[in-house]
Amino acid sequence: MSDTVHDTVILGSGCAGLTAAIYAARSNLKPLVIEGHEPGGQLSITTLVENFPGWPEGIQGPELIDNMRKQASRFGAEFRLGHLVKADLSKHPIELDLGNGDEKLHTRTLIIASGASARWLGLPSEQALIGHGVSSCATCDGFFFSGKEIAVVGGGDSAMEEALFLTRFADKVTILHRRGHFRASRIMLDRAIAHPKIEILTNITVEEILGVEEKEVKGVRIRNSITHEESILPISGFFLGIGHDPNAKMFAGQLDLDEDGYILTHDYVFTRVPGVFACGDVQDRRYRQAITAAGTGCMAALEAEKYLEEHGR
Ligand code: NAP
Repeated sequence: MSDTVHDTVILGSGCAGLTAAIYAARSNLKPLVIEGHEPGGQLSITTLVENFPGWPEGIQGPELIDNMRKQASRFGAEFRLGHLVKADLSKHPIELDLGNGDEKLHTRTLIIASGASARWLGLPSEQALIGHGVSSCATCDGFFFSGKEIAVVGGGDSAMEEALFLTRFADKVTILHRRGHFRASRIMLDRAIAHPKIEILTNITVEEILGVEEKEVKGVRIRNSITHEESILPISGFFLGIGHDPNAKMFAGQLDLDEDGYILTHDYVFTRVPGVFACGDVQDRRYRQAITAAGTGCMAALEAEKYLEEHGR
């Protein structure tokens, strides 16, 4: 067991975690950032970010994240690969288990910025074909579908963004949405509608991804939820764009979570445990933007600093 007690440990290295790291490091708290399952978070697998203030021409998501990481390092933030397996928030200092045997981390304050992960439909055929034509990351896997026909499921901005990105490679992209109305912003939806390679099918339920035996996606069996008509769409790639789930399961029973598993905070970033703060997508089901995640990351670091000051540090 290590004797070191950290002032601040930050869980997650996306936009919220890295902003918290910049602020905490500049306050001389020497934060330790646990990078998590998806280092860099959702920005690291997105393409052009056009709405982060300060980049009038936009900036690539991975570049933005890389800049933030360098900025945090410059002021003394430390980074460690790994993810939280278990936490005991009732202990003082708080005890964190990263699943490395007896080694435990101890910290006076904890900033939870563990974000949210891509959601799956949960079909057995979908799960069987992950990595064989089924993907939740267009930027990671789009390249493999040059000259092919693919489908994207979802009706929000993620689905539109993925579909638009995938037109760089695919001959045709079909968006499959379960309703007739879209959550996507008007500008993204209009871009998708106007794109010659994109077709949008509404009121569609995905029933099965075909190709499990062949170990490669051959098509998708879909049903129109109004006419109940079933049909098969031949495709080589199937991309998920149906949103994300918060990474907070490991705090169930210790922190208040809402019905979808988001951490409930009050006054922006306070959890029900003193010294434990939550920021970014793990506690924000409403805005979920890079800039709002950065904003709450900043707030969490400032509150952690204040908490430490009030407790004699
Ligand atoms: P979202 O807005 O929650 O949309 C999720 C979509 O997936 C909805 O259309 C939903 O259908 C559908 N869906 C969910 N579960 C499903 C299921 N089991 N089967 C079939 N369809 C399902 O999520 P998001 O698109 O990831 O966007 C999240 C936030 O990030 C938004 O605030 C968005 O503006 C932002 N965002 C912005 C950009 C950008 O500006 N470049 C890019 C990506 C995301 P229903 O509509 O029927 O519920």
